[in-house]
Amino acid sequence: KKISIALVGLGYYSEFQLAPAIMKSQYCRLGGIVTGTPAKAEKWKKQYNLPDKSIYSYETFDRIANNKDIDVVYVVLPNSMHREFVIRAAKAGKHVICEKPMAVSVKEAEEMIAACKKAGVKLSVGYRLHFEPFNQEAARFGKGDFGKVKMVESSFGFKIGDPTQWRLKKALAGGGAMMDVGIYAIQASRYSTGEEPISVTAQEFKTDPVKFKDVDETIFWQLEFPSGAVASSMTSYASYIERLYISAESGWLELNPAYGYGPLAGKTHQGPLNLPIVNHQAAQMDDFAKCIFENKESNVSGEEGLKDLKVIEAIYRAIQTGGKVKI
Ligand code: NAD
Repeated sequence: KKISIALVGLGYYSEFQLAPAIMKSQYCRLGGIVTGTPAKAEKWKKQYNLPDKSIYSYETFDRIANNKDIDVVYVVLPNSMHREFVIRAAKAGKHVICEKPMAVSVKEAEEMIAACKKAGVKLSVGYRLHFEPFNQEAARFGKGDFGKVKMVESSFGFKIGDPTQWRLKKALAGGGAMMDVGIYAIQASRYSTGEEPISVTAQEFKTDPVKFKDVDETIFWQLEFPSGAVASSMTSYASYIERLYISAESGWLELNPAYGYGPLAGKTHQGPLNLPIVNHQAAQMDDFAKCIFENKESNVSGEEGLKDLKVIEAIYRAIQTGGKVKI
């Protein structure tokens, strides 16, 4: 049996990454769609041979509760809409995958976790890199395979285009580069050390205050971990950077590019990394399908998404206060 997924929001990520990945997956199939655009509904219906009863608008979405052909709702909307649609999906009795960042605040994320718990459905976050071999190699450092991790450098930024897009509006995005791609750098520092950060200092820069009047553009931050390990990171909407460096007692690892859709590349103290190139999203969704089959909690659960939001809120507080903030 395959798990049937309904995608909510048919923008770039759904159309060009998730739907093709579902086609490549082993345990998943595209079962339905939720869209505000009738023309997209028509196009997707033909392309993926979807039955009319599994096509919803944002208004009719709650009727999905009566659709036995849908197992999972995958929320792929602008960040500030995640909370509402995850809670509605949970109330409809569907397991949920929510894109990153899972919400725009710690409070929202906690509400989403509580709603899924109450409904008895599983919640996971679209953290595809947990299922990607180069980043899994980085996570081996966090498991202690190369001695104590001392230092991590993790950064992710890109030059954003269209100034009118939702990513530059705080009401829809919740924040700027930090919420969008900085979160990958936080994730990487957490799985590279295998620890949760205890404090943060951070600095914000705006090279284009007009374009980025509403959201953060470039942020540098430093995390301290309980073992004494430290991480230095940056994120930006003004220029491209995408790398991870881990320095441990008996080894090191460098990934560049580290977080894109791949192919990724890297090397360690042992030489170049020759690892399989996988479809990140197919691997991520297949893992969630297995969690449903085996009634297990996902490794990228709502709680995992919540941890990153706690760090993000601490980073924003550290920028405001200029001092060290406890997490
Ligand atoms: P997008 O702008 O391409 O698509 C957004 C979709 O939401 C569109 O179909 C749009 O019609 C719909 N929408 C509904 N209400 C809207 C509103 N009020 N304003 C704007 N759009 C509205 O964005 P995207 O790149 O597909 O990103 C969607 C989500 O997926 C975001 O949370 C993003 O962080 C996440 N994402 C994750 C990855 C990843 O690698 N995991 C990659 C890209 C995007």
